[in-house]
Amino acid sequence: MRGTCDERCRLLEMPADHAIAELSVTRLVLYEDQTFPGYCLLVLRDHATELFQLTPAVRTALVEDVCRAAEALQRAFRPIKINYAVLGNQSPHIHWHLVPRHPGDPAWPRPVWTHAHEKQVPSPGRAREVAQAIREALR
Ligand SMILES: [Zn+2]
Repeated sequence: MRGTCDERCRLLEMPADHAIAELSVTRLVLYEDQTFPGYCLLVLRDHATELFQLTPAVRTALVEDVCRAAEALQRAFRPIKINYAVLGNQSPHIHWHLVPRHPGDPAWPRPVWTHAHEKQVPSPGRAREVAQAIREALR
């Protein structure tokens, strides 16, 4: 449903050091768990829970943001594939998981959620470095 943010939306809030950029209708942030390097969330700024609730203009802008972010991840990390996922089961506020994938990563070629692991949270300094590298790769 469209509406206002609730406590589940806060699951999408990352530490300030993880901020990358404000795009057209979204905010790009580095995901807290960097087991898969470059894993980002692209979060719609306005609260909505289903893509069909968006106006065509916002939907188009959202897809453009997805492509712009993914292209930056491609430049910054040289993955062989980028995974795109929109689930919303834990936080229904529209957000995309953008995950650069490499043949050597611990879940390859399965979805990243199939690999049980401890979160690898980067230090604030490291998060800022990675966020800056992605920011510089945005065009
Ligand atoms: Zn929300």
